[in-house]
Amino acid sequence: MTHSLPVQYNFSLRQLNTFGVAASAQAYLPVSNVAQLEQVRQDAALAALPRLVLGGGSNILLTRDFPGLVLHIGIKGIEIVGEDDSATYVRAAAGENWHQFVQWTLAQGLGGLENLSLIPGSVGAAPIQNIGAYGVEIKDSFHSLTLFDFETGEQLVLDKEACMFGYRDSVFKHRLRDRAVVLDVTFALPRQWQANLRYADVTQELAARGISQPTPQDISAAVIAIRTRKLPDPAVIGNAGSFFKNPVVTAAQRDALLQRYPQMVNYAQPDGSVKLAAGWLIDQCGWKGRTAGAAGVYEKQALVLVNRGGASGTDIAQLAAAIQADVAQRFDVQLEPEPIFL
Ligand SMILES: Cc1cc2nc3c(=O)[nH]c(=O)nc-3n(C[C@H](O)[C@H](O)[C@H](O)COP(=O)(O)OP(=O)(O)OC[C@H]3O[C@@H](n4cnc5c(N)ncnc54)[C@H](O)[C@@H]3O)c2cc1C
Repeated sequence: MTHSLPVQYNFSLRQLNTFGVAASAQAYLPVSNVAQLEQVRQDAALAALPRLVLGGGSNILLTRDFPGLVLHIGIKGIEIVGEDDSATYVRAAAGENWHQFVQWTLAQGLGGLENLSLIPGSVGAAPIQNIGAYGVEIKDSFHSLTLFDFETGEQLVLDKEACMFGYRDSVFKHRLRDRAVVLDVTFALPRQWQANLRYADVTQELAARGISQPTPQDISAAVIAIRTRKLPDPAVIGNAGSFFKNPVVTAAQRDALLQRYPQMVNYAQPDGSVKLAAGWLIDQCGWKGRTAGAAGVYEKQALVLVNRGGASGTDIAQLAAAIQADVAQRFDVQLEPEPIFL
């Protein structure tokens, strides 16, 4: 079947992944509306290709050329869609930039997303791993999302429960993987806003600024300042933020490890399990600041792997595997990567 879609072939993805690794897509389609997704579904040749739904490319590791169709989601639009006694409901299209969306909500006087300022990427990708930072996850103010189901061609609305959010996890990494395209996300931003100051970094930054009663904007500014100091800017040095999830272990494992490593950073979880700081484990194995070929471990944060210039996705994957092996050998803890490997 012929189609009028602006598909490009053998398309470079180098500028479209924040690691800045060189890889190409067999076919590439910038998507600005849902009708184009339906057209892809109707086109036998395009529909037969493996698919990659791409937002800002800030949570993927391209280890090879992608042998299929990249759908680069650029659907735009932000609007307030409702209000009740408890919340203001704001809907953003999947192709909106996450940080710009957060700033938009703050400019409307709506708090709730400020701790998630400056996380790279798109609104549509935010639910995929339930993005989180500084004590907040999007599930905390998530209301619902609309998705396009590639298998049926239907548009569905999923509420919070249906998304099955967990720590850097959701149904989109499991049952709906490779099937759902998030079209828009609706947030319920609280009428009675309360500052989330669970993270010492944030309270210290506010104190340094002489702020004791912070507004959502104050918290956003503090988070932006902290993140700018701690994390490499992908425009300058390729990276995908935290490369590993913080591993979750049992209290018994934690106790055994503390016998050997009394300084070990650990956080008790409400369900009795314990989260370890992956960055601390990696640092203890001596990886911080090291380089392997053109891939490396960021000097200021052992959890961040970087492309020092010209690294391939395989270089970065090999470095990650070496780090995983060291941490497993020393601590008997398995580190799980956060970005999606392709
Ligand atoms: C410097 C830096 C700091 C970071 N800090 C944080 C942090 O503090 N907390 C955090 O949680 N993450 C963080 N990240 C990771 C990343 O920003 C988030 O995971 C972000 O949500 C990814 O968005 P993206 O649009 O770039 O997704 P992409 O990398 O394009 O895609 C990621 C995954 O989502 C899927 N996807 C993308 N868009 C859609 C859609 N519309 N529908 C269905 N599936 C889709 C893709 O197929 C892929 O599986 C950081 C990354 C960097 C580079």
